[in-house]
Amino acid sequence: MSKSEEKYPLSCVDCAVTACRFGRTDYPDFCLTKKLPEGKLDSVLPEYFEGEQIAKCSVCSVEVEGEYYGQMARVEETMEFARRIGAKKLGLAYCADMAEEAALYARILRINGFEVVSVICKVGRLDEGETLRGEANGRVMCNPLGQAEVLNQAGTDFNIMIGLCAGSDALFMRASKALCTIMINKDRLTSNNPAVTLYRPERRKLV
Ligand code: SF4
Repeated sequence: MSKSEEKYPLSCVDCAVTACRFGRTDYPDFCLTKKLPEGKLDSVLPEYFEGEQIAKCSVCSVEVEGEYYGQMARVEETMEFARRIGAKKLGLAYCADMAEEAALYARILRINGFEVVSVICKVGRLDEGETLRGEANGRVMCNPLGQAEVLNQAGTDFNIMIGLCAGSDALFMRASKALCTIMINKDRLTSNNPAVTLYRPERRKLV
């Protein structure tokens, strides 16, 4: 463990037993489950059933994972989940740099019986400088809140993000009325596979 790591309190990533995962009780001393006062998490339980959409999501996410883990590609898994929660109209919020992937997925979704409303990140053609700093700079701004608003107005049942950048995705998820999932996490250095950098962090001089 490096010096900079030592100053942080231990938590789940430092756990060698992951007893919680296997339903055991041989927790380490710093275990977050062990430290929870009795009933402390009870307050979140009703939240799994807060409204019809959330209740369906709670049950169907577990079902789809349990039935298809490692058998369905994410493209299929997302459709299966959408079917089970009764989503018919799907929103596709995508990055302009991933227009091709978005069009491909829209086609697949339509062939598989879904209605698709798609919206590009540049929707509204806002000037970035003018919007954020009060002085136009000629760059068209990514507009995740606008994307969410378009899909909210369309009344989509479930929204799928394709390639929204870090931060834009956060704003989109916050503003979207429908539940959201990520189809593609854009990462131009790794063919959209951010985990690659975790496997070889020395290549980016991160460790
Ligand atoms: S909750 Fe406890 S047992 Fe589970 S991973 Fe965290 S530290 Fe380990």
